[in-house]
Amino acid sequence: MPSIQVDAVFHCHMCGLCCQGRGGIVVSAEDLRRLACHLGLSADDVKSRYCELSGGKLKIRCGDDGCCIFFLKDKGCSVHEGKPAVCQAWPFFRGNIEDPSSLVMAKEFCPGINPDVTHADFASVGLSYLRDHGLVAHDASREANALIVK
Ligand code: SF4
Ligand code: SF4
Repeated sequence: MPSIQVDAVFHCHMCGLCCQGRGGIVVSAEDLRRLACHLGLSADDVKSRYCELSGGKLKIRCGDDGCCIFFLKDKGCSVHEGKPAVCQAWPFFRGNIEDPSSLVMAKEFCPGINPDVTHADFASVGLSYLRDHGLVAHDASREANALIVK
């Protein structure tokens, strides 16, 4: 158990920067089940309405504005409780946990990461958070590359 808590390392400012850009939000089978349950739809309906196949993986589509289709201006994520694992895992992505220079870039991108946190503390807290929340990938070919693999 790390001596510092997640809030001391990361606290989301809801700016939405991480919800912009195409192709990053991979939807695993478990993500699809959770999203379908959250939206009250069948998995096939979620796929046809909100997802696309890209690079061999199912991903959430973007709108014309280049943002995730579930992102609402001024409101943020409209599927917060049902969002995919990769969204729950940010900023504790594999690269940021394994590579200090990647964390430096992540700090520049995401205002929610404590700019003063050391890489060692970030990695320690992040790994615990991922394990505690079941956000470790089991099948890298179907889940987001950004997730730590068991
Ligand atoms: S970029 Fe960081 S602070 Fe902004 S919404 Fe994403 S996680 Fe939150
Ligand atoms: S599912 Fe939610 S958190 Fe994930 S990219 Fe879309 S709007 Fe952002």
